[in-house]
Amino acid sequence: MDPVKSGFALVRRPLELRFRTLALAAREWLSADYVRVRLTGSDLAGFSSLGADDHMRLFFAEGPTGSVEELRAAPSREYTPLAWGDDWLDVEFAVHGDEGVGAPWAANAPIGATVGAGGPRGSLVLEGDPDGWLLAGDETAIPAIRRFAAQIPSGASARIAVEVRDAEHELTIDAPVDVEWVHRGDAPAGSALAAHLNALGAEDRPGDAPFVFVAAESSIVKPGRALLERWSIEPSRAIVKGYWKRGEAEYHAPH
Ligand SMILES: Cc1cc2nc3c(=O)[nH]c(=O)nc-3n(C[C@H](O)[C@H](O)[C@H](O)COP(=O)(O)OP(=O)(O)OC[C@H]3O[C@@H](n4cnc5c(N)ncnc54)[C@H](O)[C@@H]3O)c2cc1C
Repeated sequence: MDPVKSGFALVRRPLELRFRTLALAAREWLSADYVRVRLTGSDLAGFSSLGADDHMRLFFAEGPTGSVEELRAAPSREYTPLAWGDDWLDVEFAVHGDEGVGAPWAANAPIGATVGAGGPRGSLVLEGDPDGWLLAGDETAIPAIRRFAAQIPSGASARIAVEVRDAEHELTIDAPVDVEWVHRGDAPAGSALAAHLNALGAEDRPGDAPFVFVAAESSIVKPGRALLERWSIEPSRAIVKGYWKRGEAEYHAPH
């Protein structure tokens, strides 16, 4: 379809890259392995995130840090800004066990712990009105899916599919359509979502030229791109991304 007629565009918007020093103010468990944290600090004045799948880098120091330089040198990982105000920022974490840096910090850091935040340094902004929507991801993509879902007008043609372990790990996601929960059980992360995407045929496409967002373990990229082909969607008009990679710490998603 002519991209001009299909009603939306993905537009790159730069943001000023800033480093902020914040503190962990609150923690709310939304399931046994998914936690929302509130970070606070006056550094958040002017914070902005224009794109629903924006990411910022959070820097996790082990204990108190004496200087910004020390905090900047701490290990860091990428997260989606979920919601924010003048002096607060909410972030949600998939807590995937004791491995890594970000997940254990989100689960265990004492209230008051210092955390650094860099970015977002730019955004890919969905402008206009797609005639259909497909949002699909695992736990790590739930914050971005929440943000995209908030943009879907009621009555729009839309599908949202989220992979979690089982029914006990389903979360509440505000959206104008029911979320299709895909359970992986003990199968490798991403495999159930891949099967779900592979089963979508041309007749399942929401609208003529939908906006498609797919993000999960990096093995999701192949079935995500195959779906774009089946649905005749140009890759430049969709977001299909590995948000993490099995067996690889500190995975850097290609941008
Ligand atoms: C654009 C973008 C936005 C993101 N937004 C979020 C977000 O809002 N919330 C969020 O939780 N994550 C998000 N992620 C994913 C997050 O950056 C990675 O999961 C990161 O690896 C977590 O760091 P860690 O220190 O916990 O684990 P790492 O030290 O990076 O990895 C340690 C081990 O854990 C494995 N691992 C990493 N993540 C998972 C997982 N989810 N499930 C199972 N095993 C895992 C790795 O393969 C590795 O073997 C985002 C990623 C990108 C690229």
